Amino acid sequence: MSEKTPFTKEKTLFHKEKTMFGTDKNPSNILPTKYTLDSKIKFRCHPGVSCFTECCGNIKIVLTPYDILKIRKRLNMEAAEFLHTYTTPIYLEKTDFPGVAIKLTEEGRCPFIKSKTEGCRIYSDRPTACRYYPVGMANFHEGAQEEQNAEEFYFVVKEPHCKGFEEDKTWTIREWREDQGVDVRDEMNKGWMEIVMRRKSFGYQATLSEQAKRMFFMASTDLDQFRSFVFDSSFLKSYEVEQETLDKIREDDVELLQFSYRVLASMLFGTDDIKVKPEVLKAKVDTIKKEQEKTGKTMEERAEADFKKIKEEWDKAKTA
Ligand code: SF4
Ligand code: SF4
Repeated sequence: MSEKTPFTKEKTLFHKEKTMFGTDKNPSNILPTKYTLDSKIKFRCHPGVSCFTECCGNIKIVLTPYDILKIRKRLNMEAAEFLHTYTTPIYLEKTDFPGVAIKLTEEGRCPFIKSKTEGCRIYSDRPTACRYYPVGMANFHEGAQEEQNAEEFYFVVKEPHCKGFEEDKTWTIREWREDQGVDVRDEMNKGWMEIVMRRKSFGYQATLSEQAKRMFFMASTDLDQFRSFVFDSSFLKSYEVEQETLDKIREDDVELLQFSYRVLASMLFGTDDIKVKPEVLKAKVDTIKKEQEKTGKTMEERAEADFKKIKEEWDKAKTA
């Protein structure tokens, strides 16, 4: 579906069958209708359906930072232990960002299934992708237009094994999302999704350094380690962070999570979510200036000279 639409830039797409980020694995199961928040669907999922937990296998469930935080707190596990036990490394779709998905059992089932009759053992803390299913959300930008021109709509995934559509319960999409706690998750995931989608829109033209990848992975999967990075490394010597924010993120994981999105956006895309301290910036500018004085050339002149030199060598190699 995403490949064939007239929309050029996919922003957000959640559903469980493939990952939160795409529908291309099995697009034939997506009903060919665009839904709004007020559209109605007839659907109910409960332990009485004959297919109960069938959709919890042979799937790729990508975890957001908030998913990881909630599930590992629920299981009372350190991030490293949780990642090692329950996840598998992946690249977030169509990006070079490292992420994690739930590691399925050898039988291809989700490890959080308690039993066929009891369902999910972390149900109230289940991942975002599980909450979305079977209603996905798409948000497309037409061409390079602005955010306000983005078109948001919903779609329904109807897989042959899912008997929920035969149940006698009708909801609006709004009611369904509220019932599943999707809106809260969206709010928590928003900053992170924007970073991923921004990277996705770049394609692979710009290479991400290994250090940037490590930073993204650490901030996305291990908030305790990220907190140490903020408070125990030279981070605060270089970046300006208000005392009020520091007080909050020292104790509060959700505040720290939101702060990590700001840090990632600044470090990866140069946004001014977190500002470099004026004295650090000045020191950098001074270093560049000193370099210019030493060589007698501006940065542009140096780049041009470098280019000329490379071209000369190239021409020489061609005529040799
Ligand atoms: S986390 Fe729970 S709801 Fe999601 S796939 Fe696993 S068992 Fe099913
Ligand atoms: S009704 Fe659909 S969503 Fe519910 S358990 Fe069955 S397959 Fe999964």
